[in-house]
This record gives sequence, structure tokens and C-alpha cells, in this order.
Amino acid sequence: IFKDYVSGFLKESDMQVINGTLKLKLPEGSNGIVVKNLYLSCDPYMRNRMTRVEGPSLFTSFTPSSPLTGFGVARVLDSGHPNFKKGDLIWGTTGWEEYSVITEVEGLFKIQHTDVPLSYYTGILGMPGLSAYVGFYEVCSPKKGEYVFISAASGAVGQLVGQFAKLMGCYVVGSAGSKEKVDLLKRKFGFDDAFNYKEETDLDAALKRYFPEGIDIYFENVGGKMLDAVLLNMKDHGRISVCGLISQYNLDQPEGVQNLMCLIYKRIHMKGFVVFDYYNIYPKFLDVMLPYIREGKIMYVEDIAEGLESGPAALVGLYSGRNVGKQVVLIARE
Ligand code: NDP
Repeated sequence: IFKDYVSGFLKESDMQVINGTLKLKLPEGSNGIVVKNLYLSCDPYMRNRMTRVEGPSLFTSFTPSSPLTGFGVARVLDSGHPNFKKGDLIWGTTGWEEYSVITEVEGLFKIQHTDVPLSYYTGILGMPGLSAYVGFYEVCSPKKGEYVFISAASGAVGQLVGQFAKLMGCYVVGSAGSKEKVDLLKRKFGFDDAFNYKEETDLDAALKRYFPEGIDIYFENVGGKMLDAVLLNMKDHGRISVCGLISQYNLDQPEGVQNLMCLIYKRIHMKGFVVFDYYNIYPKFLDVMLPYIREGKIMYVEDIAEGLESGPAALVGLYSGRNVGKQVVLIARE
């Protein structure tokens, strides 16, 4: 249960796990579905839905005293919709609960390929995977041999962007918040190099060390001080794909960015994107990703917390980097 609007850093006590009885019945004439939730996805944007949203916004706020909602994988138990039938597996927006009645089925995808772990549809084959794909290929127009930097590089999105860039023949460096994550980037995901940004007192100097000739492409996941340092190190005509700004999500007052003049002097192309705008290319994305996974061309690391009661800690952990890889909450295996 989302207790009430949050200010400052999210805490476990901002959420509550309760036992209750759900009426698993579709409203009369509804074209929704009833599901059993299997995996829930912890995604950084969920913190943004915990603030009272005023004015136009991409997201609506969570409703105080109601269950959180988010991406997940679920099995259909009952359906009033012609596209879904009992027994189908789906991914998309569901409730943070064991069973859910979903009245809004637009944006739900039927899972057709089950030779890969179902949890993958919260990450590599779901919303974060598609974000990595469009944010890199569509926004950055990458070319072989280019110099690519990725922040929050070991996370759900970052680990995939780095591997896409390697497959393209780029030189790839990532930043992450622990030695374990830095090792993962270099040994498991094949990054050319990586560093722990928490150990760097001068991020500008760190980037100059890894990119003496400058950065062609920056895949932005964090914002704040990292973005400022990157702007100083971009090459002329470099591209910045603004995927997320997680360092700002728990701040009541976002930090200012000092070095925006670099956008002009260096003719940098900086573009934000929203993954929902690219749902139409999901089938094409699956055609690319499934063979990559089956042939072992792309590695994937997830961090699975067990049980709904572990959900609040798992979600809070995203904002201090406690997750190693994609953070998932396992509710039920089938
Ligand atoms: P991750 O799996 O990477 O988890 C979040 C990670 O962010 C943490 O593990 C931590 O890693 C890092 N982090 C947390 N707080 C800070 C901080 N204050 N400063 C720097 N790093 C921090 O998340 P995702 O891969 O799912 O998401 C990555 C980004 O992409 C987010 O900003 C998210 O909002 C955005 N996003 C945007 C989408 C879009 O449509 N534009 C769609 C999906 C995601 P570490 O230990 O390395 O610090």
C-alpha cells in the first residue's frame, strides 16, 4: 500500500504490506482481466508517482492508501477481453498485490515466448529493454568505433546499452556505484572499462582519464553532477540520450546543471525520450533480442527479491544502488 505522498528520500515506511481480501470479479460488462501476479518490476520512475502531481505530467500520482501499481508479469485467471483468455501470460501494468483486477488492458502485452525466464519480461524483454534499445539506436544514431559512456551502467537499462554498443563496435565505458558492479561491467558485460563514481572526487578528471579524446555518445541515466562533468567532456557534435535522471528523483529541489553552454559551443545533440512512444516497435525489438539471448550474445543480470513483503525494501534500494542488475520481486512462480 502506498501510504501517502512522499517528500525527500523514499523510505520503506512510506509503504505498507497488508493482508486483505480482494474481490476477484470483473465489473459487469468490463473488458478487463483478472490476473495472478508472478513478478513485479521495481522501476525508478515509481518514485515520481509518489509525489503529488500538479499540472500536466507523463504520470499520474499513486493514490494514497491504495496499492502501488507498476510493471509486472502475470497469468490471466479470467478475461472479459477478446485478446486475452484464461491461462495467458501477460506483461504490463498491474498491481503490487498477489492478484489484481486490471480494467485498463491497453499497453498489456501477451507473452508468446516462454523458453526464456518469465522475469525477463520485467527487464531485458520488457519496458527497460525497449528503453535501452530505442534510447541507444534511435536517439544516438551510433556508429562503429565511437566512444560511448553510460551512467548507472550495471542497472536494467545500462547493462543492455553497453552490450548494444559493444556489438556495434564502439569503445564503451560505464560508471557504477560499487566495486562489485564495476567488475560486473568489465567481466560479464564486456565493457572496455568502468569506474566507481562514488570513489571519484573529481568526475571531470575521471572522465578525462577514460576519454582523453572525448565522448561521442552519453547515455544518461542519472543527471546531476555526472551530467555536468560529461558536458565538459563531450566531443563536438556528440549525442546525449536522456533516458533518466535518477539522482534527482528524491530531491524536493532538483539540482541545477552548470555547463549547458557546452551544448552550444560543442553543437551537442541532447534528446530525451519516453519508451511508451516506441511500443509499436516492440515486435521488431523482440525479433532482435530473443536470438541475442538464446545465442548468449547478450548477458543479463537480475536481482530477485522474494515475496511481496520484500517489495518496499527492494524498491527503496534502487535509489541507493543496493540492486545489482535489474530489481525484480518474485510473487509466485506460476
Ligand atoms: P537501475 O536498474 O539502473 O537502478 C537504478 C540505479 O541507479 C541504482 O542501482 C544505482 O546504481 C543508480 N543510482 C541510484 N541513485 C543514484 C544517484 N543518486 N546517483 C547516481 N546513480 C544513482 O534502473 P533502470 O536501469 O531501470 O533505470 C535507469 C534510468 O533509466 C532511470 O533514471 C530511469 O528513470 C530511466 N528510465 C527511463 C525510461 C524512459 O522512457 N525515458 C524508461 C526506463 C527507465 P549505482 O550503484 O551504479 O549508483
